[in-house]
Amino acid sequence: LTDNQNQETIFPCDILVVGAGPAGSSAAVTAAGSGVRVLVVERRAKIGIPIRCAEYIPAQLLGEMKMAKTCIAQSVAGMKTFLPSGEVKETKAAGFMVYRDQFDQHLAEEAVNAGAQIRLSAAAMGFANGRVKILGEHGDYFGIAPRIIIGADGPHSVVGRWMNSVNLNLIPGIQARVPLQLPMTHTEIYFDENFFGGYGWLFPKNKEANVGLACKKTGANPPALSDLLNRFMDRLAREEKIFPEVLRLFCGWIPAEPVRETVSRNMILAGDAAGQTHPITGAGIAPAVICGKMAGKWAARAILEKDMNLLHGYQEEWTSFFGPTQEKAWNRRTLLENNWERLDDMVKKCWVAFGQYHDQS
Ligand SMILES: Cc1cc2nc3c(=O)[nH]c(=O)nc-3n(C[C@H](O)[C@H](O)[C@H](O)COP(=O)(O)OP(=O)(O)OC[C@H]3O[C@@H](n4cnc5c(N)ncnc54)[C@H](O)[C@@H]3O)c2cc1C
Repeated sequence: LTDNQNQETIFPCDILVVGAGPAGSSAAVTAAGSGVRVLVVERRAKIGIPIRCAEYIPAQLLGEMKMAKTCIAQSVAGMKTFLPSGEVKETKAAGFMVYRDQFDQHLAEEAVNAGAQIRLSAAAMGFANGRVKILGEHGDYFGIAPRIIIGADGPHSVVGRWMNSVNLNLIPGIQARVPLQLPMTHTEIYFDENFFGGYGWLFPKNKEANVGLACKKTGANPPALSDLLNRFMDRLAREEKIFPEVLRLFCGWIPAEPVRETVSRNMILAGDAAGQTHPITGAGIAPAVICGKMAGKWAARAILEKDMNLLHGYQEEWTSFFGPTQEKAWNRRTLLENNWERLDDMVKKCWVAFGQYHDQS
């Protein structure tokens, strides 16, 4: 197809997925597996790189997807939560530390095996007259005329902008890969009065670890995230857990509140684009995979049954699955932030490791 006005080449497809992260590839696996034509555009040249993640997944996620063993760095038996008072709470939480780049690449391969096409170095830039404008790797533009668009393009989603439904509550995170002094069997979470509205983490990857923190800025002169990270690393080095040598540095944004609408016209949002991360823990890989699959399923049904109203089934399904969990976590986040000066007490009500978090109140 050629657009007569500007001679731009227009590619038709049933479903355009923007973004080949866990949400986009999972959507593509399900939709392409239903027999519709799926094109995924990914702005990065290589899927999953650079990594913006602490790389922990819960063991239950393996029930939702096929995962190659090579994606797993190590297993973890549970989580230790450290409070400012010095109290430590240990909880069982079986899971895995993954190589996130390989994890994302594996999911993308599954999408291709299901029949989806993936175009790399292809960034969705604009939407007008039913066409999505894509910037290709050589600075060239081309158009795509999809019947449905799945926005799986992360926390700063462009598809969300087209839908007027964007993440309003994003928390910045910073992380360093460091050498570990001794092997670890648990992930570790650190609450600290300086990490407002967030926490620090030490997640093991065999002989190395991801040390990071995510928090909001508060007060007149908030410290830079990099200064907080340096101080946190100094503490972990003094406690003889890590060597304070930065092997790699990462940063990224974490949604802390779901976006208002995830379906509008022929567009739907999944994963971080929809703010589907857990508002307290910030865990987003599992929701991205699960909601991505739902998005792919409802989009394929809408194409096959020629009924765009079916897209609303997606909003209903994911909110009935995750809605109560998200609402509770969002309420607890608000409570925690409003009572930050009583962190030691409030954490017990507001962090998933404690029984009080799971109380009905
Ligand atoms: C510091 C940090 C640590 C974290 N740690 C964990 C953790 O340990 N466990 C966990 O479960 N979650 C963690 N998360 C959250 C998790 O990484 C996300 O929830 C998850 O990546 C969401 O997947 P997604 O597919 O929705 O989005 P993404 O993984 O962000 O994928 C979006 C994709 O869209 C592409 N894209 C963006 N814009 C465009 C465009 N215009 N055109 C084409 N492509 C585009 C991007 O390049 C990217 O590949 C962490 C996040 C951060 C920032």
